[in-house]
Amino acid sequence: MFDAILIDKDDSGQTVSVTKLDDDRLPEGDVTVRVACSTLNYKDALAITGKSPVVRSFPMVPGIDFSGVVEASSSADWKAGDRVVLNGWGVGERHWGGLAGKARVKGEWLVPLVPAFSMEEAMAIGTAGYTAMLCVMALERNGVTRSAGPVLVTGAAGGVGSVAVALLAKLGHEVHAVTGRAEEADYLTALGASEILPRADFTEPGRPLGKERWAGAVDVVGGQVLANVCAQMRYRGTVAACGLAGGMSLPATVAPFILRGVTLAGVDSVMCPREDRIEAWRRLGEDLDPKLLAGIVQRLSLAEAIPAADRLIAGKVRGRIVVPIDPS
Ligand code: NAP
Repeated sequence: MFDAILIDKDDSGQTVSVTKLDDDRLPEGDVTVRVACSTLNYKDALAITGKSPVVRSFPMVPGIDFSGVVEASSSADWKAGDRVVLNGWGVGERHWGGLAGKARVKGEWLVPLVPAFSMEEAMAIGTAGYTAMLCVMALERNGVTRSAGPVLVTGAAGGVGSVAVALLAKLGHEVHAVTGRAEEADYLTALGASEILPRADFTEPGRPLGKERWAGAVDVVGGQVLANVCAQMRYRGTVAACGLAGGMSLPATVAPFILRGVTLAGVDSVMCPREDRIEAWRRLGEDLDPKLLAGIVQRLSLAEAIPAADRLIAGKVRGRIVVPIDPS
């Protein structure tokens, strides 16, 4: 038996509770993992609140991330005792996820836990932090060097944003952070941001081209904010777009792309190929100061994670939430 958050749905609506489950209810998969730690990402909060149809079948154990120890494996790649991490692949959406004492998944979805991080640190990073690293790698692929100019991060006090600020600052970039929460300025400065910009500067429709300000940007917000960021990129700048915290639309013009050669680089973590995941985790081990993670995280139990989902969707959570499950 193990504890899990279980989301169920019937004609009267969605229910979410912490439930005891038998091991024989675990889904198909060649590797069973004793989950050490999970986390609450934006997508998990959408699943738990039911605000968006991310859950594709019910009942569902949410949790798009976990770290843990292999308990049993019929995969040639893994053996009992291996320390592993899982991010995405539809886990917590189509396949039971990590907000549980155990998970059973396909071996090919797992990556080894890099030695730089503990189980809990890996979840302090989680999909949010691994996506932030994929965004940094997208900027690098497109030639955004330290000397090219400042780099902007939107939604900076959230999960992806916090890790992106910390990574870019550690890599020597001048980091400008956009936040809707002026009270988080000291937090963002401690992560390495040198300028804090109010979100309100980006939320109204702007001109197709503005003053050229940033060589690179990591955007988690989408909508009008992303359109205004694109309009203010420097010549041949790159925006890594990974989120929709402010909306799904993109009310932009083509002017930044055809007149300034700006690149809009899409970043997806869910189906990202295994080699890129392994490289992203290797780079996180190199370029993220684990000491900074302590200031980014708050710990919640499985039961506490359920009400926290509303606060996360409302943009009221700072940094990352980890959900320790079996630290043994
Ligand atoms: P999060 O911790 O909730 O952070 C989102 C941040 O966006 C908030 O903290 C807030 O930052 C800002 N924000 C919230 N509502 C906003 C609004 N209405 N308008 C403008 N800004 C708003 O979430 P997260 O885990 O960092 O994820 C961020 C986004 O990235 C989500 O849309 C998520 O689905 C997406 N994501 C995508 C991938 C992928 O594979 N593409 C992977 C991970 C996450 P401030 O208070 O600082 O402004």
